Amino acid sequence: MPVKVVFECEVCGNRPDPETQVSLEQQLLDLRCGEYLDAAPGGWLTWHGRGIYGPNRYACGEHRGELKATLRTHYGNLGWHPWARGPHPWAGRRGTDKARRLKRTMTSTFGSPGS
Ligand SMILES: [Zn+2]
Repeated sequence: MPVKVVFECEVCGNRPDPETQVSLEQQLLDLRCGEYLDAAPGGWLTWHGRGIYGPNRYACGEHRGELKATLRTHYGNLGWHPWARGPHPWAGRRGTDKARRLKRTMTSTFGSPGS
């Protein structure tokens, strides 16, 4: 049975809309350390902590500024990561990108009927 991960804005306790929920779940599989990531379409901000930067933390579109302020207070002296400035687009998991490129290559090689 699939496990549903519950994301919650740590400022207001809001839950993401279904589409943003999917984005957040996908990003969860992408192991990062000390990075912000935006989650579309709800404009959520995830802090991918781990290690010295603590656990992952989440904020909704309205409270992403508050989350950054909190992190900079807690971890601001540990390195530049908490000071990163947005936007923080997510390009997808690295492995997935590679697979997508490979698929494109295959299509251009085999997929031209009539040529
Ligand atoms: Zn919020």
